[in-house]
Amino acid sequence: MNHPTMQQILDYIDGFRENAIELHIRTCAGCRTKIHAVTNMERAIRQFPFDEPSAEFTLRLIRRLGIRKSVSLGWIIARNLAPVFALSFVVVVLVLVFKVTGTFAGSNVGEPVTISETFVTSLNNSISAGVSSFSLGLEKFFPFAFSKQNYGFTALVVVVLGIVAMLDKFVFAPIWRKRME
Ligand SMILES: [Zn+2]
Repeated sequence: MNHPTMQQILDYIDGFRENAIELHIRTCAGCRTKIHAVTNMERAIRQFPFDEPSAEFTLRLIRRLGIRKSVSLGWIIARNLAPVFALSFVVVVLVLVFKVTGTFAGSNVGEPVTISETFVTSLNNSISAGVSSFSLGLEKFFPFAFSKQNYGFTALVVVVLGIVAMLDKFVFAPIWRKRME
């Protein structure tokens, strides 16, 4: 018979033995050499010390396959709003601090709060108690920010923080994202 095909030889190695093929292999040095070569190769592959792929390799493979992390819409919204929330939190705290320390006394920033006194007063008092102790701590460490002649400077700091937050969101984050792609 003709020499068995490579598939038949692989089947033979895996133990699927047809009589005709087995007979041929027993008498054919060429096919036995082939079988030796294949079994040696298999053994060599099994002994090869495969390393765990590095994180970078996995990342590169994922990128090359065009797989993107599926991110929920809620997370995208939350992530994009995070700088805004952080900034408004800072502003709210600063406004409360200024209100309590009297920086805005005489200006009309504090007025809307006093209008609805009946509803707000109790809440306001408890917040004020917390904020004043907090602001006392702040005043101790950042006295310059609480003197009236300097609150323009403090406003400037807030604006700078805002600019930094916006820069990060619209300039640095996209650059970083582009480098990751
Ligand atoms: Zn043969």
